[in-house]
Amino acid sequence: METVLATSLDEALDALTADPGATVLAGGTDLMVSVAYGDLRPSSVVSVRRIPDLHRLDDSFVGAAVTWAELERGPWPAFAEAARTAGSPQIRAVGTLGGNLGTASPAGDGLPFLAAIDAEVVLVSRAGTRSLPWHEFITGPKSTALGAGEIILGASIPPISGKQAFAKVGARSAMAISIASACLLRDDAGSTRIALGSVGPKPMRARRAEEMISAEHSPSSAAIDEFARLVTEEVTPIDDHRSTAAYRRHAAGVISRRLLERCLP
Ligand SMILES: Cc1cc2nc3c(=O)[nH]c(=O)nc-3n(C[C@H](O)[C@H](O)[C@H](O)COP(=O)(O)OP(=O)(O)OC[C@H]3O[C@@H](n4cnc5c(N)ncnc54)[C@H](O)[C@@H]3O)c2cc1C
Repeated sequence: METVLATSLDEALDALTADPGATVLAGGTDLMVSVAYGDLRPSSVVSVRRIPDLHRLDDSFVGAAVTWAELERGPWPAFAEAARTAGSPQIRAVGTLGGNLGTASPAGDGLPFLAAIDAEVVLVSRAGTRSLPWHEFITGPKSTALGAGEIILGASIPPISGKQAFAKVGARSAMAISIASACLLRDDAGSTRIALGSVGPKPMRARRAEEMISAEHSPSSAAIDEFARLVTEEVTPIDDHRSTAAYRRHAAGVISRRLLERCLP
């Protein structure tokens, strides 16, 4: 398997155009597992970790090659919390946001934050640059709108105000893939967003719960109960080897309530 160690976007795009069977490689923490299990046999891989454009990290953009370890120190508390829960220190040192987006697992821990803030995913190819809202980029479980010859440049982050928090439930407190995860934002006027992972085919927003709690400036305990109940109604989890749908539904309600309580004054 040929490996191209691209040091510029041009080099990477040339390599992807030259070999339609080529696959992008970032930290390799998802890709190499698929190769090791024989699920994927790319004719070549194009490593994008040395491309400076993919390392941008500022208030409005996270480059695709930014690692979990860097996000742990980033400007967004909920994103940092999510990054801190991903894998082990070794995984966080090399695993990237671009890889989390590229894999598009329903359990991807970076995705609820992107969904909660309505991030756009920026893609680049020989045809130019395009931006897709997160829900158009992630088209289903482990499926994306990434086209042939396209590279994820990163995610655009809109301005965010108020409080934000992330939580996940796993089989244990570290080195665990999410059974349910959630990110909640609440601004000073009460406007609330809640995005969840691992409780549906792709990350989702619980829109009815958001609408209901956003109308409550100082939510009573009955209103908080109702918010959590609506979340459990809106999620669409499945039974799999990690958990049952019933437990995931319950966990989604519990973490949503806790996040809301953390974000109230
Ligand atoms: C032991 C272990 C524990 C883990 N724990 C967690 C966890 O707790 N939470 C979690 O969310 N994930 C976890 N993961 C999964 C994985 O670490 C993350 O999804 C990580 O973010 C993947 O990033 P990567 O850079 O390693 O991606 P890679 O493996 O390099 O790539 C993954 C996919 O994205 C594509 N890709 C990568 N970058 C780009 C780009 N710039 N443009 C286009 N396509 C691209 C690749 O072609 C590939 O299809 C774990 C994995 C392991 C092995």
